Amino acid sequence: MPCNNLRHGQSHMGSVGGTPEYNTYIRAKCRCTNPKNQDYSNYGAKGIKFLFKSFEEFFDELGKRPKNYTIERINNLGNYEPGNVKWASRKDQANNRSKPKPITHCRKGHLLTKATTYIIPSTNARQCIICKRQNGRDWRKRTGKTSTYYYNLT
Ligand SMILES: [Zn+2]
Repeated sequence: MPCNNLRHGQSHMGSVGGTPEYNTYIRAKCRCTNPKNQDYSNYGAKGIKFLFKSFEEFFDELGKRPKNYTIERINNLGNYEPGNVKWASRKDQANNRSKPKPITHCRKGHLLTKATTYIIPSTNARQCIICKRQNGRDWRKRTGKTSTYYYNLT
């Protein structure tokens, strides 16, 4: 594999070497498979795999690269694999990255859905209703007090 001697920005010359598509193929592969690659920590080390078996498979999936486009994984946490890659402009990529990851579970691991999430009106923060109820029960047990505060959970 040419990973070891390919540095960032350098093109690899082979039979199809030097094309933007081939360089993208090699660089993406190296990011995922070569621990010496400068981007490996953000890819291979995070478990992102490069699953195309050949450049031909890669090219069949993506086609020719539009000018100034780079490869993007459709699901940012997914692998480089058929069905999860596309050419994207820098702007598309920035949009995709700035989207916050959806929070799916509370700190205690309860699944958060619309039905189990309480939005605190003053701050718009989301709170887990299961935890909130539990906190209320604990609070009443500890203090012996009753309060309607914890029941206002619509
Ligand atoms: Zn919870």
